[in-house]
Amino acid sequence: MTDATSPCADGVFANLIDGAWVRSSTGDLFADINPADTTDVVGQFQASSKEDAERAVAAAAAAFEGWRRTPITTRARILTRAADHLEANAGRFAEELTREEGKPLPQSRDEVLRSAQTLRFYAVEGQSLTGETFVNDDPDMDVFTVREPLGVCTVITPWNFPISIPARKIAPALITGNTVVFKPSSDAPLSGFRLAEALAAAGLPKGVLNFITGSAGAIGAAITEPAVVRAVSFTGSTRAGEHIHRAVPFTTRTQMELGGKNPLIVMEDADLDKAADLAVKGGLSLSGQACTGTSRILVMASVRDAFTDRLLEKVRALKIGNGLTPGVDLGPLATAGQLDTVLSYVAQGKREATHLYGGDCLSGDEYDRGYYVTPAVFTDVTQDMRIAREEIFGPVLAIIAVDGYADAIAKANDTDYGLAAAIATRDPRLMHAFARDIQAGTVKINRTTTGNLINAPFGGLKRSSTSTFRESGRTGLDFYTQTKTVYRGC
Ligand code: NAP
Repeated sequence: MTDATSPCADGVFANLIDGAWVRSSTGDLFADINPADTTDVVGQFQASSKEDAERAVAAAAAAFEGWRRTPITTRARILTRAADHLEANAGRFAEELTREEGKPLPQSRDEVLRSAQTLRFYAVEGQSLTGETFVNDDPDMDVFTVREPLGVCTVITPWNFPISIPARKIAPALITGNTVVFKPSSDAPLSGFRLAEALAAAGLPKGVLNFITGSAGAIGAAITEPAVVRAVSFTGSTRAGEHIHRAVPFTTRTQMELGGKNPLIVMEDADLDKAADLAVKGGLSLSGQACTGTSRILVMASVRDAFTDRLLEKVRALKIGNGLTPGVDLGPLATAGQLDTVLSYVAQGKREATHLYGGDCLSGDEYDRGYYVTPAVFTDVTQDMRIAREEIFGPVLAIIAVDGYADAIAKANDTDYGLAAAIATRDPRLMHAFARDIQAGTVKINRTTTGNLINAPFGGLKRSSTSTFRESGRTGLDFYTQTKTVYRGC
């Protein structure tokens, strides 16, 4: 491992290990590529080795005792300063985010500012952690609980929200006195780097946050499986999350935010125009690459055709292009792998359902250099079809006709996943019933399946999450703390 001294030189971004910006011991790099223009290399990152990863974990372990004893107001001030830095540079960081991930610039800017807001939220909320006191028969004894940090926490994140997901994991970890090893997605590491850089510049002591890039195959086990790692907070595919959950020691806490196959139910009484908007915004913004994105539309048979007409009109009007171009609704898919996956599900959909629109690669001019595809819409979709059952994670909408609320709920729940679900209706009784009946961690009524508040719990049911700890809001602090019960006599 060589000292790179600066976070970035000549477009090469360093790891942050034990307070120093360093190159990987392998000397190898990998490229962060712009999916809108694959000739644009956004940066070169360290292809780290197992030994680099072990150093990061060791640095986090060594820093823990000092950090847990650091006054909480000092910890909070660091988070707040890092938030200032993100806000001051929001324009530049948003542009970088669009270049590495593809989403339209306004959405990237929102994400950077939301990440700053998350740091501020935990700087305050973390200071209101409380315990309980317990009455007892001994007049000379107090019994109470205290919450304390766990130790080294590993944070692993995907490419689709490359700064806001890291922020909502790292901020509650740090404010509660844990130390962190953070590995971003290899497909969009720069935004995570900017977050680590902001926290380091804000005054984090050495080793408290360690940022390491590299493939899951090379460093994944080394940052999740040692017993000294007391918690792993992971967001990504169900396949990878389940693997890590099984591989870590019994004593390691896990928080897994995984895939979804999120339904939108459209009732007969819904405003069909608004329902079509919910489907388009929930299913296609971010080019369908949101874990909470709508992918199944369960629409009452009696209004299916009227709803479908409105939906197609809105889908056809979407402007697809480079996310840096003003007015673009959908950017490219994030990676070549994403493009292959989406095209293979479109081909599958054409074999098993009725294809209404899209799913084509765009070509000509700027499209030839990026991973552009038109959103696809299928109808006559049934429960047994793969496009109805498997997470596609792309701009593909499946319309399923249903006969009444009971049929809609049964079909909505007939899935391995349970991340988010929505209903469009004007009937208060159905709103109530839906919130009760649907098997999903996030329930939306006349709102998109996507989107969640910083200050509210977030997480899924079934194979969308480990059913342990919720992220976000006050509940985000629970994962990173453990409870001791103290009996204090005199
Ligand atoms: P992914 O392939 O599972 O990768 C996610 C992260 O995990 C990446 O940093 C990846 O590293 C790393 N990783 C993969 N296998 C690992 C292992 N065995 N050990 C340690 N690290 C490992 O997922 P993705 O393609 O980036 O993201 C898309 C998926 O994320 C979708 O399934 C989506 O639903 C889900 N997602 C869920 C939520 C939620 O809150 N529930 C939010 C967003 C996305 P490399 O990049 O180096 O491979």
